Amino acid sequence: MSLTSSQLVNETKEKIKEVAPDEVQRSIKEGQEVRLVDIREREEVMDGYIPNAALIPRGFLELDIEEEVSMDREAPIVLYCAGGTRSALGARDLEFMGYTNVRSMIGGFKGWKDAGFEIEQNGLLSEDDLRRYARHITLPEVGEKGQQKLLKGRVLLVGAGGLGCPTALYLAAAGVGTIGLVDADVVDMSNLQRQVLFGESDIGRPKVEAGKDRLLDLNPGISVNAHYVMLRSENIMDIIEDYDIIVNGCDNFPTRYLVNDAAVLAEKPVVDGSIFRFEGMATVYVPGAGACYRCRYPEPPPPGEVPSCAEGGVLGVLPGIVGVMQATEVIKLILGEGTPLVGRMLAYDAMDMKFREFKQRRDPACPVCGDNPSVTELIDYDQFCGLPSHSEAAG
Ligand SMILES: [Zn+2]
Repeated sequence: MSLTSSQLVNETKEKIKEVAPDEVQRSIKEGQEVRLVDIREREEVMDGYIPNAALIPRGFLELDIEEEVSMDREAPIVLYCAGGTRSALGARDLEFMGYTNVRSMIGGFKGWKDAGFEIEQNGLLSEDDLRRYARHITLPEVGEKGQQKLLKGRVLLVGAGGLGCPTALYLAAAGVGTIGLVDADVVDMSNLQRQVLFGESDIGRPKVEAGKDRLLDLNPGISVNAHYVMLRSENIMDIIEDYDIIVNGCDNFPTRYLVNDAAVLAEKPVVDGSIFRFEGMATVYVPGAGACYRCRYPEPPPPGEVPSCAEGGVLGVLPGIVGVMQATEVIKLILGEGTPLVGRMLAYDAMDMKFREFKQRRDPACPVCGDNPSVTELIDYDQFCGLPSHSEAAG
């Protein structure tokens, strides 16, 4: 017996269960479990799809349904395509696999869209992004979904200096979608020994402006916000509000305490790094999940006790290593993969070429993240402790 394609479709639709878009919409609104599966081809999905739908092109439906949607043969699955024909054939094949609660959506994505129901756009990577991030996408721990997380990532770099430069370059290259740079300095000849975002032609320009140009040249697909300001108690909360993760690459104590306290109050993670001469360290502070900076150093040192990088010097490659460690931690936090440096401080000695790890525990008596905090509002330490108030970032 042979069938024309229209006979096949008509016979299939008589055998399977169909559902109208408004009924699907109602079930979602009522909070019923509905596992939507979009079985269109990639190019078709680029224009939009139904929020939370699994995207499995028809050719992979039987192969990927168990892993991507459910092993449970009773799971309530709704398949849709562009107009309701391919999804009918797909439903037939899932029934053949033993799925008992599969329905095909009448009218497909077009019917859903024409009814005015919500759609999700920008959910898939463009052809350009697939090429650009191919080495990420190949990694099972990243994949297209992880790359999308990176593209939605919002990271603020405090300081566009020795640490901020390599961190920014790698985050931009990795496709972290929104990068903020805060720095009140201009590029100086003495920065070029280690601040790899800048060239001689940038001397005299604000670091955040020169950095923005370089990052957008590296990756025009991201957004870079240049904050040409000194972080103070009155502006820091407004600036960090728009970001999910703060990278601290400043090298002065007032800013370090300010960022720590603001992050604890705003409950934002801080990926911290610092360098001095031949040694550096990195750690991650996650409010509620480990120590903060004040757990180790409750109060700033007296003025003049700790030399700045300008006085102490720094090996040019050192911030590269520490900054890239910070970039690595940021990417892991965004992806939700791996073990972050929470509760651990990784110290690096360039002369011995050795890494050491120290445990860091939250101190219940910490002045800001402790059980009875004494620091409940932000403090501008430079106003009374006499440290230089300019924010020469990360040496
Ligand atoms: Zn603390």
